[in-house]
Amino acid sequence: MIKNLVLFLFVFLLQRISEIAHAHGALVLVDNSIMSPVLSQPLELGADIVMHSATKFIAGHSDLMAGILAVKGESLVREIAFLQNAVGTGLAPFDCCLCLRGIKTMALRVEKQQAKGAGSVKSLISLPCFMSHASIPASVREARGLTEDLVRISVGIEDVEDLINDLDYAISSGPK
Ligand SMILES: *Cc1c(COP(=O)(O)O)cnc(C)c1O
Repeated sequence: MIKNLVLFLFVFLLQRISEIAHAHGALVLVDNSIMSPVLSQPLELGADIVMHSATKFIAGHSDLMAGILAVKGESLVREIAFLQNAVGTGLAPFDCCLCLRGIKTMALRVEKQQAKGAGSVKSLISLPCFMSHASIPASVREARGLTEDLVRISVGIEDVEDLINDLDYAISSGPK
């Protein structure tokens, strides 16, 4: 129910934002990294440029860093290809190969991950205040409820019982 409402709002807002932006001659860029192409295709809803962190759902195995821009129309393709060539940001051949292999199982992975919310193929435990969110000023982190003892568990596609048993074991055998 909530999922459908969020999806409806996403579609509605993106269509409206695109109409307003285009009426003023502006381009619309959507960072679609969190949704992945499996769950959302913003080019169909009016966006001109869609950005994906291929590091996440597209490659899917936490073994490379890459980004993808999907664009509408040939002139944008030419402009971005020119810039990419000029700046020299082409992806290494081996990373392209891993990305291509990863994308074959993207739909399977994303659908499986939906059972437990967003995640990679493997689970990850982190302390956001000292790692991913360390660059955010302490006062801002605190205001948003990111306390220093917060432990983030990002659940992958492993067997749920295995994960629970592993956590149980780690917690019960840790320092007393
Ligand atoms: C992770 C992420 C990025 C950055 O992606 P990298 O491939 O790790 O550089 C950009 N946008 C969003 C929304 C992300 O979640």
